Amino acid sequence: MIPPLPRISRAALGPILLTALIILMAWLLAPPARPHIAPSSAIHALIAPERPVILGAPTPPPLSGEYAPGDSLDIISADGLVPAGDHDALAADLARALAYVSQRFGSGPTGRIRTSLSLEPSCGIHGIAYTTERTVQVYTCPDLPRARAVNILAHEFVHQLAQDRYGDRHLQADMILLEGLATWGAGDYWLSGQPSFAAFVRPWVVAGDTLPLATSYVGRPIGDMNTLYYEWASFVEFLIKTYGRERLDALYVSGHSDPGSADYQGVYGKSLDQLEAEWRDFVIR
Ligand SMILES: [Zn+2]
Repeated sequence: MIPPLPRISRAALGPILLTALIILMAWLLAPPARPHIAPSSAIHALIAPERPVILGAPTPPPLSGEYAPGDSLDIISADGLVPAGDHDALAADLARALAYVSQRFGSGPTGRIRTSLSLEPSCGIHGIAYTTERTVQVYTCPDLPRARAVNILAHEFVHQLAQDRYGDRHLQADMILLEGLATWGAGDYWLSGQPSFAAFVRPWVVAGDTLPLATSYVGRPIGDMNTLYYEWASFVEFLIKTYGRERLDALYVSGHSDPGSADYQGVYGKSLDQLEAEWRDFVIR
């Protein structure tokens, strides 16, 4: 469990709950890949897409750079990060990603989303969503393929859609649901060709190589964070397929940030432990 959040401004809450980062050095120093880690074509094997945010960290100033307004997105890329000839393709990729996740999530954005691509000199790609400010951001470098940045942003877009659907209760969502819904909503952008998140995590569940769902990623190795994001996405997928979206929506707005803090008993008449056991059966059957 993570400690209770200190009293902080609402503007800071989005970043606190939703931020991200991975450093290439962490990847370079990481131990050899465990066999269950996600295929690199989706989200890099040992690079989790987000990182715990420093509590109270200020929102960075707006990025200056090249700007391309789209139908729903205002896209800003740092000078030199994206070749000028690729700007239209980037805008098309991002528009396609937003349309895809909106359709999958079941509702679209209520306003324009400022989408920033910032330079991360170490090439440690990571994303962040400032949902109260309608801003999502990815940090990347010219050496990384554009698709990697789009994969990350697909997840960050879903955080914005969740804010737009659920309002400020989103900011206190149970970590399982907060990240599970964003990862599930990103769908193909994170599935690396697998047909479902159940299929994705099945080998881990069969091998008993999973973490309890109510595990905070804070302070854990990045490989564990990656594992938890996929487990949580699979759990959200299970809840929707088994019990329907309406109850998932009711559950989402009942949380208090900590993983496992949502009112599972009140919404489903079952404890999280019971639902977790059902989820494991669902995955392996
Ligand atoms: Zn996230």
